[in-house]
Amino acid sequence: MTTESKQREEIALIGQSLFDRGLTMGSSGNISVRTSDGGWLMTPTNACLGRLDPDRISRLDEQGQWCNGDKPTKESFLHMTMYQENRNSSAVVHLHSTHSVAVSCLPEIDHSDCIPPITAYYVMRVGRLPLVPYHIPGDPELADAVRGLAGKHSSILLANHGPIVAGKSLEAATYAIEELEETAKLFLLLRGHNPRVLTEQEVEELSRKFG
Ligand SMILES: [Zn+2]
Repeated sequence: MTTESKQREEIALIGQSLFDRGLTMGSSGNISVRTSDGGWLMTPTNACLGRLDPDRISRLDEQGQWCNGDKPTKESFLHMTMYQENRNSSAVVHLHSTHSVAVSCLPEIDHSDCIPPITAYYVMRVGRLPLVPYHIPGDPELADAVRGLAGKHSSILLANHGPIVAGKSLEAATYAIEELEETAKLFLLLRGHNPRVLTEQEVEELSRKFG
């Protein structure tokens, strides 16, 4: 099996796993990976992540232009912006996962860091999570807003929409977005309970030890 066929299989497997666990529904959510020749594989528009055909996954060239497979997701511009700003990233996952979307709609959240450091793994996998204000789907100004933050953050929350996460591998990006969704759930469970969250020193210690 070629490297690209393996990447196609991995996208389909991860898509199915996210779908089966209710982290994505309908035809929402999309996944992309960088290929060895500098292009990209991306999930197609209107595709259900739970039932992807590896052979029909969209292929984009180095310029991000669609060259074969089904037509790529309408949100491909978001993925391309994440890659342009995160040169070390090899994969991007975007979901409309329920708890993260719920957090993105709360009026009182800190727009520079939407979820407090509740657990060590959240700090290590997600870190600071900025919020991008609401834009109508497909608005090119959304890409500009994401561009302003994507160089400094590998995870971004789009208001009234959902999270987008870049990673060094598809596995890393998937683990990070899963951690984000579970922490969003914890954050909602703990609202109004005045929970202890990690202190600044505890967060600093994590970045010193784990980068
Ligand atoms: Zn979306």
